[in-house]
Order: sequence, then C-alpha cells, then structure tokens
Amino acid sequence: MLTFRKLASITEGALVQFVQDWPVLDLLTDSRKLSQPAGTVFFAISGKYNNGHKFISQLYAQGVRQFVVEELPVEEQSRSYPEANFLQVTSSLAALQTAAAWHRQQFKVPVIGITGSNGKTIVKEWLAQLLTPDELVVKSPRSYNSQVGVPLSVWQLNEKHTLAIFEAGISQPAEMEKLQHIIQPTMGIFTNIGSAHNQGFDSVAQKVAEKLKLFAQADLLFYCADHEQVHEAVQAGNIASFTWSRKSKKADLIISGTTIAGAKTIVVYTYQRQKQRLAIPFTDDASVENALHCLAVLLYCGLSLADIQNRLDKLHPVAMRLEMKEAINGCYLIDDTYNNDLAGLAIALDLLASQPQRGKRTLILSDLLESGVPEEELYQQVAALVRVKKVDKVWGIGPTIQKNAEAFGGTGTFYSGTAAFLKQFKADAFRNEVILIKGARVFGFEKIVQAFQQKVHGTVLEVNLDALVHNLNFYRSRLAPDTRLMVMVKAFAYGSGSFEVANLLQFHHVNYLAVAYADEGGSLREHGITLPIMVMNPSVDSFAKLRQYNLEPEIYSLELLEQFLFESGGANARIHLKLDTGMHRLGFTESDFEMLFYMLEQHPKVQVVSVFTHLAGADEALHNDFSARQIANFRQLSEQVEERLGYKTIRHVLNSAGIVRFPEHQLDMVRLGIGLYGVEATGAEQEALQPVSTLKTTVSQVKGIGKGETVGYSRKGVAAEAKTIATIAIGYADGYDRRFSNGVGEVIINGKRAPIIGNVCMDMCMVDVTSLEVKAGDEVIVFGPQLPLVELAQKIGTIPYELLTNVSARVKRVFFAE
Ligand SMILES: *Cc1c(COP(=O)(O)O)cnc(C)c1O
Repeated sequence: MLTFRKLASITEGALVQFVQDWPVLDLLTDSRKLSQPAGTVFFAISGKYNNGHKFISQLYAQGVRQFVVEELPVEEQSRSYPEANFLQVTSSLAALQTAAAWHRQQFKVPVIGITGSNGKTIVKEWLAQLLTPDELVVKSPRSYNSQVGVPLSVWQLNEKHTLAIFEAGISQPAEMEKLQHIIQPTMGIFTNIGSAHNQGFDSVAQKVAEKLKLFAQADLLFYCADHEQVHEAVQAGNIASFTWSRKSKKADLIISGTTIAGAKTIVVYTYQRQKQRLAIPFTDDASVENALHCLAVLLYCGLSLADIQNRLDKLHPVAMRLEMKEAINGCYLIDDTYNNDLAGLAIALDLLASQPQRGKRTLILSDLLESGVPEEELYQQVAALVRVKKVDKVWGIGPTIQKNAEAFGGTGTFYSGTAAFLKQFKADAFRNEVILIKGARVFGFEKIVQAFQQKVHGTVLEVNLDALVHNLNFYRSRLAPDTRLMVMVKAFAYGSGSFEVANLLQFHHVNYLAVAYADEGGSLREHGITLPIMVMNPSVDSFAKLRQYNLEPEIYSLELLEQFLFESGGANARIHLKLDTGMHRLGFTESDFEMLFYMLEQHPKVQVVSVFTHLAGADEALHNDFSARQIANFRQLSEQVEERLGYKTIRHVLNSAGIVRFPEHQLDMVRLGIGLYGVEATGAEQEALQPVSTLKTTVSQVKGIGKGETVGYSRKGVAAEAKTIATIAIGYADGYDRRFSNGVGEVIINGKRAPIIGNVCMDMCMVDVTSLEVKAGDEVIVFGPQLPLVELAQKIGTIPYELLTNVSARVKRVFFAE
C-alpha cells in the first residue's frame, strides 16, 4: 500500500513536515471534491487559472492531513497546521502522476488505452458495457482523460478488477508520454484523427505520432486502416495491430457493406474468411464507427456472432453531459441515467452539492454496477458519500440497494425496481428539490425522468455551465491576486438565467453580484444567494425591498441620495457611489461633491462601500485615449472621495473589455459582464473564451414549393425556382429578430447552413433547405458555437448583448455540465 513516506520516496520530494505515516487512500486535486478526509492526500497544483495552494487552510479545517505542495505555507501560517504532513515537490502534478503510475504497476490485469480525436468516451463506455458480462471492468469516469483526469482514473484500479479501460486525451506535444507511463496499456484503440483544431501541434502527422506514444508498450492496437495517416504511422512504427477497413482486403476485419434499415445499420463483414451480417442499433456515421471499433475487439475476444448481436442490441447513445432541467413543482433534475458506478456517482453528487440553494437535495439511485468492492462495503461507501455530500433524501431502486438499505441509516425509501417506484410515484411528494437521478442503463430511469419533466417546447436555450466556469477562470487569470471580482447578472444574467448563473458564481466565490433592479436582487435572495448584491437602478419605491433583502443600492445623484437617506432614517446602510467621468449616463460629477460629502457626513451610519465609474468605449481601441482620460479622472475623483470620507472604499472601473485592455487599472475590483457569457468584447481574445449559450429549435414541417411561389407574410420570400423550405419553431416573440428576414439570417440544420426565406413571423419562420437533407423534427441551431453571436449581430447591425438578452422568457433554459 502507498503511504505518505513511500510517496515522498517515489516522487523524490522533501518531507518538510512529518507527523505520522498515514496510508494514501484517495488523491484529491479539487478542494470542492473532498469526500473522506482520512487517507486523502491533497495535491496543490498551480494551474493556469487556479492555484491549489489557496485551499490548504480550508481543507485542513475539513480534516485533511496530507499535503503535496510546491511552495510552503508562509511561516506564521504553517504554524496553524501542526497535525499535517507536508511533502514539497517541484511539480505537484508530476507527483500525482507518479503516485498513479506506481499504483498501476501493482496490477497485472489487461489494460485497454483509448485515444483519438473523437469517440474516446463513447467507445470506452460501450466497450465496458459490452465486456461486462465476462469481466469486472474499471474505467475512466466520464471523460477524465487529461493530465489530471488520467491519474485519478487509474487510481480506482483494485485487486478485483479483471480489465481496465482508460481514455487519454492530449492537447500538446510531450503530454502523451506521461499518460502512457500512468496507464501502461497492454492493448490500445486509436479511434480516428480529425483535421480540426490542430492548436498545439504543427501538423496532423505530428499529432498522430504523439498520440501513438500511448501504445509504446502495448501488445496490440485496434484501429481503422482507412484513416490513412494513422495507418501509415502504425505501419512505420511496427506496432502489432488488429485492423478493420471498408476499403482494404488486407484488414483483419473487412467491412464490405453497410445499409441503413429503419433505426439500425446492417453491417456485412468478413472475419477469418467468414462472411457475416450484424445489426448496429444506430444510423449516424460516428456511432457506426464507434460500434465497429467495439466489434473488432469483441471478435478478437472470440465472442460468437449471436453473443455479439445480443450485446450490441443493448447499446444506447451515451449522454456526454449531465443535464439540469426544470421539472414539476419547482424541482430541478440532474439527469444522469447512463451508468452508475462509484466514481461517476461521486462526480454527479458534486454537481448536486454545488446547488445548495434550491431547497432539499434528493438522490434517486439504482443498484451500482459491479465495482470489485464487496456489496456491503460498497453500499457503506455510497451511504458515506451521500452523507458527506449532504443529500437530504434517498430513493434507492433495485434489489441490491434495497437489500443494503440499512447502510443508509433509515434515511431512505427503497424499491425493488423502477416499475415499483413508478407505481407509487406521486408528484406531490416532490417540491422545490434538486433531484439527482442516477441509474445504470438497465434500470430504464429515463421513465422516471419523464415522470418528473415539464413539457418541453420546441425552442430551448442551452447554457453550458463548464463554459461559464472556463470564461470566469480566463478573466480571473487576468486579475492581480487581490483584485476583487463583481459579476453582472443583470437582465436575467444576459439572458442565461439569473439564479442558475448566480448560484454557480457563488459556488466559485466571486465577491459581488450586480443586477439592474431590486426585484432581480430579491429573487436571487429568495433562491438563497447570499453574496453581496449591488442594485444599479434603485427606484424610490424599491428602497423597502433593498432593506428587506439586504441589497446595496448604487447611488448616482444627490436627489436619489436624499430620498434614500430620508427613507433609511439614520439606519445602517451600505451604498455604492457612481461617478460620471464621460459616459454621461448616471453618476455624480465633481460639482456635486460638496453637497454629497455634506449629506454623507450627516449620516455616519451610511457606509460608502465602493466608488466606481463606467467606461464608454473600452471595447474599441479607437477610444483608448478617451478611456485613459476617464480612468485618470476617476482615480483623481475617487481619491478625493476617500479623503473626505476618511476611510477606504472599493474602487472599480473596468468592465469585461476593460479587463482585457487596461490590466494596469484594475484598482480594487472589476465588473465582469458579457465576457462571462462567452463574448470577448474587444475581439482580441475571443479564442480564449468558450461560447456559453446555444439557442435551438426544431423543424415543424418541410415542403416543396414551385417556381414563382411566395413564402410568408407580405409574400416577401419569392422562389426564383422550385425550392424546398422548412418551417422552424422560432419567431420574433422568442427573441429571433425580425431583421433576420429575407436571407439576412441563417440557421444550421444537420450541420449545414440554411438562409431565412421571407419575413420572420411571431412564433415561427421559414428557411430555404433546397438540396439539404431535412425532415420534420430535426434540430435547428439558431446560434451557438458553430454560429457565433458576433457574426449574427453584425448581420443585423447590432451587438451580441442584444441578441443574448432578447431571448424571451418563454424559451426554456437548460443547463448542463460535461
Ligand atoms: C453592464 C455593466 C458592466 C458590464 O459590462 P460588459 O461590457 O458586459 O462587461 C459593467 N459596469 C456597468 C456599470 C454595467 O452597467
């Protein structure tokens, strides 16, 4: 077993503080994911955006006693960790990898390593499912395939497992060697190589060569010989292989034909001189390719045709992400119904735990898949996890979990199966809860999800919470360590959903939120947001609300101040002063100062928390001089304010564009807005951000029209020749701007762009899909990663802000995390 002292020796680090030699049971890199302090070693990794060293004191308080660090806590701090072991290394990440590699070496089982541009996760999930009848499989949870994810995946391996399947992903040269060292695959699958996003590599050939390093010690590599660059590189590298191909007769598995029949693809193949037919329960190219990789492995393992067919029939699409959906009675669902193992459960419970404010936390859980841990112990572990993650209510479904109900200490309700649960299901039993639905495939939990779901209309705005966090981290990386961060969640968080976004920001410890109106702030409070909130447009009739909900007004004029002071009648209050330095919207000017200070002196219980101004042209370089003057002016004026007040305030100027353009003027705080939502307003660093929202709808009908016929109101869309048009379920009442009419706008259907034809109507519009493959029910992307907001805004002469905030309230928001 790995102990802390042993860890020190294999990582060649220095045991700078050593209390006792505890065992290493769990590796932790993300302080929020702590489950069991005893035996946990925290690796403080300093990444591009975050520095793990910041979380040591918090983890110590939570009971963690083993730390791997790159820098030591400063002298006076280190005295506050008398009971902890500290191991100092040059790279905590490398130490984590060394620990995992050492762990891997303790086992002799076959290990399949999977890499490639696409399909890694799906092939891994499917293979695990396909081989489970014969093997006890351990696999990477979700897509844990990075420099941190791989060590954590490999750490799960235990003596009971008979097969391991781990995926490996890289974004830069030299990374794969490290992953090879940790996974040490005995067999490999190279799924494919994409020509897309080659950042980090000089060429596709280099990328292939790097990826192949995963298989440096593997005895056998499965791949599709039709990917020429992969094929050439494998041949040149002399790696023993099992190939499949649609073109070459030399492959081990020859695919001589595929035909789509209903919802299946019939595959005719030749293996060991025998021609066979098989049905794959998918029709899209990517799924068929993924299934053929699996087929190659199953044939190699010697399974019979009947067995293979039987197992393939049970495959389902893998949900690559955890979806959060609104449900009945004010409930929220986290839908994770693909599989159910301990590692996956821990990840899903973390997401549940990050939703602290929505009332009760409920878990609906099926039996866990084979884990290699004895049943009783397994459910003890599950119950412990459930306690640590503060789940209030457990519904256990399945014979095994029911048998082990006692582990949950009488807190849960248990059923032998999904049908039994649904039979007693009463919607009224669930109210204002966040419900994690986590079940292995065989339990068919999608039926439970359906029972909880509200009707979904055709149009949804999908909000990618991971992208939000990515963008947050990007801006954080631009801030000096002590600069505070206020995030603007006005206008329904730029259309993305105020409460959900605010909740995430609270979880990620931003310092302040800002909304436009008191009502918005009140609603955040009702949902349990406890961060300080600034209200930018406090009207006189909202002052009572400000007090009730502990909201802090922006005060921008003497008149408003007078009304506020009158209303508050000498009570304590926290306010923010807005200065006008050139925007000429709201704010005090220097000529107001004498009166302003006089009034404030009369009301010593009113504290000026912050003083700020807003830049009029931070997004455009053209206005740099003007911005510089605004900033200089603000520095001077805010100094006067502090001098007269006799105390320090929080001073802030920069919006999203300002953070990028004027890093030297962060002062005490910045105000992040549009950048969080994925639009880099200066345009210089758009690449560093991830798009957050995707507006989607569906095709309602497809029809052909003849030459000369017209489409829509006012007969504006004229068909110069015969056309196929599709009617889609979005109109200006959903926020789809009428200026997109008549060919100005485009949408994406099945990966292809299609222009709007005719005028946009209230609830729908028509697109020209002539020569595209489109049918009713197909998904339509209105904007999203493939159809950027910036581009669409330009087409109609507006800015992305307007497109985002226009998406109407009737469009359902769906939140998800990878
Ligand atoms: C909206 C707003 C911001 C954020 O602006 P972005 O351009 O979205 O970053 C900052 N400060 C004030 C006063 C605002 O009203």
